[in-house]
Amino acid sequence: MKFSRFLFSTLSGLVISQLAWANTYIENRLNKPVPGGVAVVNLDAYSQGGVLPTVRYQGNRVLVVKSDQNILAIVGIPLKTSAGAQTLVVSSQGKESQVSFNVGSKKYKEQHIKLSSNKHVNPSAEDEARFKRELNEQLAAYKNFREVKPSNIVLDRPVDGGHYSSPFGLRRFFNGQERNPHSGLDIAVPQGTPVKAAADGIVTIVADYFFNGKTVFVDHGQGMVTMYCHLSAIDVKKGQAVKRGELLGKVGSTGRSTGPHLHWNVSLNNVRVDPAIFVGAFQP
Ligand SMILES: [Zn+2]
Repeated sequence: MKFSRFLFSTLSGLVISQLAWANTYIENRLNKPVPGGVAVVNLDAYSQGGVLPTVRYQGNRVLVVKSDQNILAIVGIPLKTSAGAQTLVVSSQGKESQVSFNVGSKKYKEQHIKLSSNKHVNPSAEDEARFKRELNEQLAAYKNFREVKPSNIVLDRPVDGGHYSSPFGLRRFFNGQERNPHSGLDIAVPQGTPVKAAADGIVTIVADYFFNGKTVFVDHGQGMVTMYCHLSAIDVKKGQAVKRGELLGKVGSTGRSTGPHLHWNVSLNNVRVDPAIFVGAFQP
C-alpha cells in the first residue's frame, strides 16, 4: 500500500484510521498508481461539513466519492506519465490546496500485427479526414463532466466469458509501423455475445467509426466514461439512460478488427486507463 507524501507529513498521527482506509474495497481493487493505472487518494482532510471537495488533475475534473466514511479521489493516470510525484489541485470551502500522490512504473509489452487490408494501415486522405472528425467527437465525449455520482465505481465486466486477448497499453506495430498504444482491453468472445453497461449511465455516442466500427459510449457521471466497440449490432440510442447490466449491443468485428471481440475502454478525468483494474484482472 502506498500513502502520499502529504498524508505522511500531515496525518502521521492517524496511523490506525489510515490503515482502516487502506483496507476498503475500493482502495484494494482500484489503487494501481502506475502509468495507465488509477490512484485512490484520501482527501478526508478536505471535506469539512460533509461537502465533497472539487479536485482537478492536469486541468481535468476528478471523480470524488465517499466510501466507508472516507473521501476518495479516483484519479486516472495517463500512460505517458513518468514515475514520481504527481499533484492534485483540491478546492474546498474556497481554499485551494495541492495534494501529491506517487506513481510507480510499469513496463508494457509490444505486439507486431500483419494486416492484409492496407486501408486501415495507411488510410487515404479522405479516410484520414473522416477519422479526425470521429476522433474529435470521441474526445469531447471523454471530456464531458456530469455532476452525477456513478452507480458503481468498481465496474461490471461488460461481457460474460471469453478471455483477455489483448491488454491495455500494448505497444502496437501494424505492418511494421508503430501506432498509438492499445487504449482499452480486448475480450475475445463469440460473435453476437451480449454487451452490457458496466454501470448506470447516459448513452452519449452511437456511431459506426472507421477504426472502432460500431461503437457505444456510456457516460457514468463525474468524468467516468466507458466505450464499447467493434460491435455487430447496437441496441441503444443516443441520449438514452441505461441501467447497470442493460444490453447495449452485440459483439462483432466491425472497423479495424481481426476477429470477433469486445474492445472496452474506461476513462477517468479524460484519461484512458486499464479496464482490467475495474474487474479485478490487473496485471502489474
Ligand atoms: Zn482493442
